[in-house]
Amino acid sequence: MCQDCDNLRMPENIIGKLIYRIDNVTSLNNLIGYLKITKNLGMTDNELQEYQNSKLRALVKHSYDTVPYYKELFDKNNIRPAEIKSAADLSKVPITDKKTLQKLGYNDIISKCFSKRDLTITTTSGSTGIALKIYVPKKTMSRRLATGRRPLFLHGFSIFDKTLMLSYYYYADDFISSLGLFRQKQMPRDLNVVEQFKIFKEYKADVIRGYPSRVGLLARHILHSKLEFKKPRIVITSGEILENETRAVIEKAFGKKVANFYACEEFGPIAWQCKLHNGLHINSDSLIIQIVNNGKEAKKGQAGKVVCTGLDNLAMPLIRYDLGDIAALAPRKCPCGLEFPMLKGLEGRASEYFIAPDGNKFPTNFVFIEPQLGGVMEYQIIQRSQNRLDVSIVKAKDWTPAHAQKIWDFLHKCSSINDIRIKYVKSIGKTGRVKLKRFIPMKQQPES
Ligand SMILES: [Zn+2]
Repeated sequence: MCQDCDNLRMPENIIGKLIYRIDNVTSLNNLIGYLKITKNLGMTDNELQEYQNSKLRALVKHSYDTVPYYKELFDKNNIRPAEIKSAADLSKVPITDKKTLQKLGYNDIISKCFSKRDLTITTTSGSTGIALKIYVPKKTMSRRLATGRRPLFLHGFSIFDKTLMLSYYYYADDFISSLGLFRQKQMPRDLNVVEQFKIFKEYKADVIRGYPSRVGLLARHILHSKLEFKKPRIVITSGEILENETRAVIEKAFGKKVANFYACEEFGPIAWQCKLHNGLHINSDSLIIQIVNNGKEAKKGQAGKVVCTGLDNLAMPLIRYDLGDIAALAPRKCPCGLEFPMLKGLEGRASEYFIAPDGNKFPTNFVFIEPQLGGVMEYQIIQRSQNRLDVSIVKAKDWTPAHAQKIWDFLHKCSSINDIRIKYVKSIGKTGRVKLKRFIPMKQQPES
């Protein structure tokens, strides 16, 4: 058993167990973890790479020795763990996707060093249609929390601020929040937007965080009804692609620039915008991001699949895991002075495309029927076949029949599909957890 994973497990001796339990209850560990990882932001490019590579070497050895899936994968491809010395060597390792892991059992993918009592289970949201259980050591969860909080302070966050969460991610109130620090409130998911606004107004949040679709909905309601409220100081979105139009609506409603964060259940916080909003700084002290285009490492600036290796989760190691997103690495360093490398931006869930009648694919980022067309509160587009789109619309106050024609024309222009059926509904069912899926692609699209 290696020292690294020993630090992540519940200790065997009584005093160790007691400290571990106190940590879990008081989450003082989170605060200590936070102070530790915040220091990392001062690392130079070289220091960061050295730190990353030493964690990578330990991860690869540990995974080969204790996780049957990686032992088999490495052996099958004639890779010796010692060959993987740095991030550059990682491309020798085949990419693993969610589907592959889903078919395997607990014992195939979880390290023998851990038992279930050391682990927290989280589940991917299934926005790609596939949910996967992710096992994370409790101590790695604390590190994720600290990593998630780290960029907040660069945006002027204070530990006394109140945060309103419009997301799925929910960290239960802990000891620290009972002291009046890091206070947060979760917006219930099943309320309509009018009731949500009431809660928002009463809570007087300093910080709003959530999915672009949920924050956007609240923002749209605020603009439509010209509502008054105490403006938050910080607005952060994550969990879905932040489309330019949604960004514009949110910024107009709250009068603040939106900072976009990129996170997922598999790895926790991945990347975040600093105050310059240029791109997203990658949490390179916790993970390695590679951009893969046609099986090869993409050049900087070139878009490709986001392939991630998590350096902290030794219980369920994910090495070269395909996140199902598309992004590019930023060609230049951020002028803010932080040396953490950057993603240029995310370009939409890799799997979400219109398939036009001639077989061409169109990224669904273009499928945006509000606010430039107006009249719509919420919508969802389902591609039934290569020749048919079904559109569900929740009308806004300013809806007129002319809007239907505009929407039809717009979608027809994007997709060149003629059979577009619009229906009006009171609300739209959320797929998976809380993410509002704007677009549901045709089933079982072959990958090309
Ligand atoms: Zn920056």
